[in-house]
Amino acid sequence: MSLQMTRLSRDRAVTQWCSMPYRGKAKQFWKMSKEEWTLYQRHRFLEIYQDACTTIPYYRMRQQMYPELKLQEEPLENLLLELPILKKHTLQKHNLHFFPAKSAMGTARWSASDAVGSSLMVQATLQERGMEQAIFDWWKKQVTGTTRPRTIYLLGCMKQEGQTWLSHSHGANGVHLSIYHLHKRYKDEIVRFINDFDPQYIEGYPSAIYELAKLAGDSLFYRKNRTVAMAAAETLAPEWKAVIEQSLCSKVYDVHSSQEGAYGVFECSHGHKHIHPMFGIVEVVREDGTPTEQGEWGRLVVTGLLRKSMPLIRYEIGNRAAKGTAHGSCPCGVSWDWLESIEGRIGDQLQLEDGRRISMLVVNHMIDGMQGIEIHGAQLIQHTLRRFELLIAMKERDQGSRKYVQQSFRRRFTALVEPLCEVELELTFVTEIPREANGTMKLADVRL
Ligand SMILES: [Zn+2]
Repeated sequence: MSLQMTRLSRDRAVTQWCSMPYRGKAKQFWKMSKEEWTLYQRHRFLEIYQDACTTIPYYRMRQQMYPELKLQEEPLENLLLELPILKKHTLQKHNLHFFPAKSAMGTARWSASDAVGSSLMVQATLQERGMEQAIFDWWKKQVTGTTRPRTIYLLGCMKQEGQTWLSHSHGANGVHLSIYHLHKRYKDEIVRFINDFDPQYIEGYPSAIYELAKLAGDSLFYRKNRTVAMAAAETLAPEWKAVIEQSLCSKVYDVHSSQEGAYGVFECSHGHKHIHPMFGIVEVVREDGTPTEQGEWGRLVVTGLLRKSMPLIRYEIGNRAAKGTAHGSCPCGVSWDWLESIEGRIGDQLQLEDGRRISMLVVNHMIDGMQGIEIHGAQLIQHTLRRFELLIAMKERDQGSRKYVQQSFRRRFTALVEPLCEVELELTFVTEIPREANGTMKLADVRL
């Protein structure tokens, strides 16, 4: 087992342990009425807000923008509308000012990159990671019947030297399948493994789950009703969903959350993308900051209710979404609001000479381990099967490190796709990543 995998397994075991005190709470939310969770959100928000205004430098230094809130009977959504929207570039610029001066023991800090390839330091205490885990575990229980299903993770991380298509994570319950090895030469081994392992749950990038479904063809069809899947991080394309549910599992659920840990959206068996009220408050606003109507696309603005170690108040996270009806009740039984649509990362799958198609999230995996460089945006363009170009928007201060950045990205990219393929990566430094005609940005743009 590689060092990275060992660390991953250990982290997962610790988080699991820390989630135990919060399981009861996470469970309660499934039965709460709208009045009950609205009240919870109000109390929890005021607690986090007051804490942020006294212990977090960014908010403490801006008392005019973040005044003391009068505790009259004003609904929470109105209270929020009086506070400013926090833009991503502001959070990036003042990144360290969003952490308290002294972090609790066991606080983890890591670098994360988002849908447009911009990087950010985020952090969470052990308890906060435990709360998040408890929420995910109870959701898993709803869709699989157990909080610890036998799981296949189809997520990427930097490929390690000598990594094979399968790595055991921790215990007997979870394994990682490498998203870089979904190739016909491994098909028989992978299919045999899935037969024996009998997964109840697959968690991964939709593009990777789709590739696995295509690779398996009809060889796992007979057992597909024993497995459900959770698609995360990318937008789940309807054509991918159809193929996945045709050959790999009975249902693939769309789930949206982010490294900042400020919101969680979970699809239910009736196809509604419910907003988990314990995770955070979700607003959808227009360009001018006014709330959108039901079904109208707007910007997703989130207020986290889990993390006091990095409180985000009305944070514009960079995704677009449209609200669902706020008054309807869902046949699945929860009273939570839902989104009609939400966009994850947008972009194309990369195509390699040997026929593999790889998630656009390689861009994030290349950025995530880069130390000390502030990246404001990135886009990977594929010109031919072998020729790739990475556009990078970097902070001016870091321009001196261009050569280092160039070498590191080249090395990382080659490591990700080789040894099966030969590729060339060219780097172009830009001031801004170009947008599509509709205003969105593609993380990967395949122009074959
Ligand atoms: Zn529902």
